Amino acid sequence: MNKFIFVTGGVISSLGKGIACASIGKILEARGLKVSLMKLDPYINVDPGTMNPYQHGEVYVTDDGAETDLDLGHYERFTHTRATKFNNATTGQVYNAVISRERRGDYLGKTIQVIPHITNEIKDRIKKVAEVSGADVVLVEIGGTVGDIESLPFLEAARQFRQDVGYQNTIYVHLTLVPYIRVAGEIKTKPTQHSVGTLREIGIQPDVLICRTEKTLSEDVKDKISLFCSIRKEAVIEAKDVDSIYQIPLVFKDQILDEIILGHFNLISRHSELKDWEESVVKRVLGPKHKIKIAFVGKYLGLQDAYKSVYEALTHAGIANDAKVEIQRVDSEDIEKYGAEKFLKDVSGVLVPGGFGYRGIEGKIKAIKYARENNVPFLGLCLGMQCAVIEFSRNACGLKGANSTEFMPKTKYPVISLLEEQRRVKDMGGTMRLGAYPCRIKNGTLAKKVYRQELVSERHRHRYEFNEKFRTLLEKKGMVFSGIYKNKNLVEIVELKKHPFFIAVQFHPEFKSKPDSAHPLFRDFIKAGLQK
Ligand code: GLN
Repeated sequence: MNKFIFVTGGVISSLGKGIACASIGKILEARGLKVSLMKLDPYINVDPGTMNPYQHGEVYVTDDGAETDLDLGHYERFTHTRATKFNNATTGQVYNAVISRERRGDYLGKTIQVIPHITNEIKDRIKKVAEVSGADVVLVEIGGTVGDIESLPFLEAARQFRQDVGYQNTIYVHLTLVPYIRVAGEIKTKPTQHSVGTLREIGIQPDVLICRTEKTLSEDVKDKISLFCSIRKEAVIEAKDVDSIYQIPLVFKDQILDEIILGHFNLISRHSELKDWEESVVKRVLGPKHKIKIAFVGKYLGLQDAYKSVYEALTHAGIANDAKVEIQRVDSEDIEKYGAEKFLKDVSGVLVPGGFGYRGIEGKIKAIKYARENNVPFLGLCLGMQCAVIEFSRNACGLKGANSTEFMPKTKYPVISLLEEQRRVKDMGGTMRLGAYPCRIKNGTLAKKVYRQELVSERHRHRYEFNEKFRTLLEKKGMVFSGIYKNKNLVEIVELKKHPFFIAVQFHPEFKSKPDSAHPLFRDFIKAGLQK
């Protein structure tokens, strides 16, 4: 029998529910259990693929090409779970499925309602994850905050779930905020009481409470929360602010949250094995020997979530090199205004991440030119690779005005352009080149040195491609095409011969980096920066 843990959030959003889920997954894995994690998102978009990064943060891509919520990134980074399209469901998908069935006539004349039709569809999706993953424990994170109108059907489905599969097979975890009021010098439990009260109105009595707090919770405060919220005192878990998110599994384990969960589920398992995580991740992230400054030239810099996986991958590369990676966020439009030197003269590496649209592109190109001409280590991701190709075409191959047809459809030198199959696409949702593709690495290249493998698999999310027509010319001028997707002869990796470390990729390596195994491209980029 699979076990199910539902994780809800209360009081305010952005409490780190995704990280809490991933951390619970981690401590259960450490006990030898197989886990799978899924996210239920209450918005009506079918997936986040069409949303602006400022609306939603990063779009996380799975191997099977689903565009999903960034919390799935936390799940994959903390645990061994491999996320698929089944691990993220939205209100849009749920209604889409039910309405399609209704149009087909599958409901035989019945009135279609939120309960039971929508809630059944939600429950079926949760059961599907249990079935395809074969996990012992499925963690289900419910997006939004308790009390939102939008998330009600998901909460109702979670409530019914206990009736369907039994008390001993379900746990409700609620994440809340216990604020410290500075002027009063007091910790306040009232918002938590109200939030649990709201959950109870829906019919869910939480079994575990995780309390985000900036101060240690005294025994009195825990007693009070326990009494008012009807939760065993040991199941009131303190989640005090920490320096690194990777400490959180240890914080939970120290309060025997794994024991509490196993006890409720009546599961017997081996001792916890988190030593590796503690030694090779947490200790290293907290006490690095070296320090390095990297310029991150992007345009959605105001929101921490917009480039989540890239920031994390840089942290992982720091762990691998025993270095603290300081990320200097540079707005590419500022480079357009003030030039590259002002921002890049004292950094040890330049990274240009993915993105869409023309705004800020010329600044990215300037930054790449600076890195190329001044031997500064450079890593380009997706759009970052496309900009590197444009820069090299314009400034090293004499193709004046070279561009991507995304930014200038009528450019004389379309060095980045659409494949025929993409020209025919009308719908914007889910129609890019998405998910894992194999990439063959050429011998004797930097890519080969980095990967130490001939064939790798990386995840994609883009519409435009390198234009094959310009390959011979660029090659002649010193660009190396070191990674190719053979089936369609598409360029996946470019690099430069006369440069200490200049590499750019059409895919998104950041999605496969983990704290205990940094992605080789990020690892060696930071290594090159430290050598500089
Ligand atoms: N806008 C580019 C494309 O669609 C790059 C996309 C990206 O960086 N993810 O091809």
